[in-house]
Amino acid sequence: MEVRVDRNLCEANAVCCGLAPDVFELDDDDQLVIKVPHPPAERRDRVRLAVSRCPRNALSILDDDD
Ligand code: SF4
Repeated sequence: MEVRVDRNLCEANAVCCGLAPDVFELDDDDQLVIKVPHPPAERRDRVRLAVSRCPRNALSILDDDD
């Protein structure tokens, strides 16, 4: 799995950060940082939840083969 953000869509509202704080965070400039772009198996359900809840559809998953 690889997770990416489209910065043209992201509005830095931190919804994803609240759902998967070990993977997503906002930096000091309110830019979303994906701390773990290739999440290990035990984090993937939370990442999928965060992606599905992004109100801007700014997150996408590549290579979601498991
Ligand atoms: S939930 Fe979506 S819009 Fe909000 S910070 Fe995360 S990627 Fe950006």
